[in-house]
Amino acid sequence: MAYELPTLPYDRSALEPKISASTLDFHYGKHHAAYVTNFNNLVKDTPLDSLSLEEVIKTTYNDASKVGVFNNAAQAWNHTFYWNGIKPNGGGEPTGPLADKIVADFGSFDAFKTAFKQAGATQFGSGWAWLVLDNGTLKVTKTGNADNPIAHDQIPLLTMDVWEHAYYLDYQNRRPDYIDTFIESLINWDFVAEKFAAAHA
Ligand code: ZN
Repeated sequence: MAYELPTLPYDRSALEPKISASTLDFHYGKHHAAYVTNFNNLVKDTPLDSLSLEEVIKTTYNDASKVGVFNNAAQAWNHTFYWNGIKPNGGGEPTGPLADKIVADFGSFDAFKTAFKQAGATQFGSGWAWLVLDNGTLKVTKTGNADNPIAHDQIPLLTMDVWEHAYYLDYQNRRPDYIDTFIESLINWDFVAEKFAAAHA
């Protein structure tokens, strides 16, 4: 059964001026859409076609004969997760149990921000920065290309796309400016808190 490109949770111009409609046209409309199309073409009429994206990611990770499937499945998943982790007028600070857990595991909210910023800035080339639950502990990680925490038995709570296609039209080579904007005014902490609560359920 073909996997469908999920609808964006907001209008393509809703994140302006932090992320432009033109970036969304390419990033969501072309790049994300292409990962979905490629994934569907690769798994069509194979046993992988009946699995969820998460199952495909786990099943094909480290399988040399399935690199293309893994890359497109993970990129399809990563982008949907990325869109849901941000919103117009996002940012600020989390509250409740998630806020307490961040302080417990990182020392402070500022320490989390520094770690997340660092992960995004030091991911060489294309990839992702993540906030994950790893055996019950919050951690900041980074992955290259399509790689995804699900393949490493971690539970993703938030991701930041640091592929150039995520920021180049708006920030050119200034990845640190994109990262600051992402952290300060785009993160949808309600979404992160929801994922955190679900991981404990
Ligand atoms: Zn992307």
